Amino acid sequence: MADTVANVAANVARVQEQITAAAGKRGRRPEEITLVAVTKGVDVPRMQAALACGIADLGESRVQEAAPKAQALAVAGSRVRWHLVGHLQRNKVRQALAIFRMIHSVDSARLAVDLSRRALRLRAGQPPLDVLLQVNIAGESQKFGVSPEAAHTVARAIAALPGLRLAGLMTIAPQVADPEDVRPIFRRLRELREEINAPGIVGQPLAHLSMGMSDDFEVAVEEGATIVRIGRAIFAYR
Ligand SMILES: *Cc1c(COP(=O)(O)O)cnc(C)c1O
Repeated sequence: MADTVANVAANVARVQEQITAAAGKRGRRPEEITLVAVTKGVDVPRMQAALACGIADLGESRVQEAAPKAQALAVAGSRVRWHLVGHLQRNKVRQALAIFRMIHSVDSARLAVDLSRRALRLRAGQPPLDVLLQVNIAGESQKFGVSPEAAHTVARAIAALPGLRLAGLMTIAPQVADPEDVRPIFRRLRELREEINAPGIVGQPLAHLSMGMSDDFEVAVEEGATIVRIGRAIFAYR
C-alpha cells in the first residue's frame, strides 16, 4: 500500500514535469493545462493517493463505475471534479448529471438535447453544465464522435441549448507506435476550434481542447491541449 502510494506520487510528479516541458516548448504556462487522472479500473486507495498529490480532476469512462467511487470519495471527504470521458448512453443521462462536472463525450445533437432537458430540471439554479463535443478526427469506425465535417453544425446546435455550456472539443487519437504520427490529429482539432470560433458560428468562443492520453499527451500539449486525460502513466507505470 505504501509502495502503491509512493508510485502514484512519483508518476504524478513525472507527468506534471512532462506537461510543463511540453507547454514550455510553445511558450505556454503549465497552469493552462488541466490534468485529469483517468481512474477506470483503479481502486479508491490509489485514487486517494492521486488526490493527495494535488490532483483535483478525476475521469471515468463509465457512469456505472464512477457512481460508487464518487460516493466513496465523498464519504471520505474528498472534493473531486468529475469528468465523463467515455460514451454516454442516453438512459444514463440522469445519473451522469448527478456526478459529473464536465461531459467530454457529447457525440450527437440528440444526446445534447437530452442533457439539456434534464440539466434544466435537475440542475435548476446551478450554472450550465460544461460539455465538450467529441470529434472523430481520424474517422475510425470503432470510435464515437462526430465527423470533422459535421462538427460546425453540431457545435452550433449544442451551443444554442439552454442548461449547457459548450466549452470545447475532445478527441481520442488512434493508437500508434510513434506519437508524432498523431500530431496532425491534434492539430486538426485545434484548427476546428478556430473555425468554430470564427464569428457567427457559436456565441461564446470554445476555450477547451481535451486531447492527449498516456502515450501521446506531450504532443497534444504542444498542439494546444488545455485538458489531458491520463490513466496508465499515473496508475500503472512503475
Ligand atoms: C482510458 C481513457 C483515457 C486514459 O487512457 P490512458 O492511455 O490510460 O492514459 C483517456 N481518455 C479516454 C476517453 C479513455 O477512455
